[in-house]
Amino acid sequence: MSNFNYEKKIEHEKAAEKALMEDDFPSAFYHVAEAAKFALALANQCTGRLRDAYMSNANELMDLAEKCKGKCAKRSGGEKMSVEGDESKKLNDCRVERPSVRMADVAGMDNVKRQIRLRMIEPLQHAEEARKHGLKVGGGILLYGPPGTGKTFIAKAVAGELDLPFYTITAADIFGKYVGESENNIRTLFEEARKNPLSVVFIDELETIFRKRTGDIHETTQKVISVILQELDGVKDGKNPFLLLGATNAPWMIDEAFMRTGRFDVKAYVGLPDLPAREQIIRNAFKHVEYPVDEDAIMYLASATGKCSGADINGIVQSIRQTAFERHADRYTIELFRACTQHITPSCNEETLRKIEE
Ligand code: ADP
Repeated sequence: MSNFNYEKKIEHEKAAEKALMEDDFPSAFYHVAEAAKFALALANQCTGRLRDAYMSNANELMDLAEKCKGKCAKRSGGEKMSVEGDESKKLNDCRVERPSVRMADVAGMDNVKRQIRLRMIEPLQHAEEARKHGLKVGGGILLYGPPGTGKTFIAKAVAGELDLPFYTITAADIFGKYVGESENNIRTLFEEARKNPLSVVFIDELETIFRKRTGDIHETTQKVISVILQELDGVKDGKNPFLLLGATNAPWMIDEAFMRTGRFDVKAYVGLPDLPAREQIIRNAFKHVEYPVDEDAIMYLASATGKCSGADINGIVQSIRQTAFERHADRYTIELFRACTQHITPSCNEETLRKIEE
């Protein structure tokens, strides 16, 4: 296991401690939130009791981050550090995308693709026919599964397929550095999205936003969560012009109360790619390479990457391409692939996989 995450966690914890001693709450908040992020990454790398320990450490740090944020609010009287409307609008401008990927670019996950096609894509492409069958368009789809398996990718493919703008909300929006920043950002994002006749809104890292909390939720965090919940209810009731997709790598961390509300009416598991899907991901990753890639090399890599996610496979292909460049190779052979793949370490371990599937 790389100890990069561990080192970063300690580094941010030390910086947070120093900031707390100096009563510098904005800086303490930033470092505590970063330390929590690295504790979560460590939990995802570990198994058993160590994993549980990092998970509860991450939870404690997130609680502490909320407390620091509360102190920032008191200090600034809600004004000095607040973010102007224009400022958050600029932030949101950067967050809208027009993805070019299509559903056909998504390898495997046939069941997930079918559900998305049935709920979101075809009723829009054949609106009259869907109306005649009394079918509702959209609703919310929650995608859960190991990291790097293409949850964000498929959400973008929905927008790409229908030529719609794509808006993302991540946990970082909840832990904005300034008072009012998160709330403003989220409100503006939804306002901007509402200006389109239809758009795709993707909420990533749902487990961090709607996580089970040990202590009281701080007022500012609570406000942001209620803004999101209101908007989700609008989608559920068919009032908001959004196709909503959510994603999580740790469904067990999500508050059950939130899961029960029916805001996401379809929950779909996005698992590790099977052999044909891995083959497609590999072919995709070599699409722009101008040298020939041997068929047996592709098939070798597809079978050698059994427990890998799509993101892991992209990483391996990247290192093969770097080695080919280094060696001035003018052909991608199975020998080259073998030399680059002696130690394949999938990013998601068995125990985490089992936990997600349960
Ligand atoms: P997640 O959101 O599940 O953590 P991502 O969507 O960010 O994963 O995946 C990272 C990258 O891996 C994608 O941008 C894509 O290039 C590749 N990838 C992962 N899964 C697939 C897949 N099933 N089909 C095609 N590409 C994939």
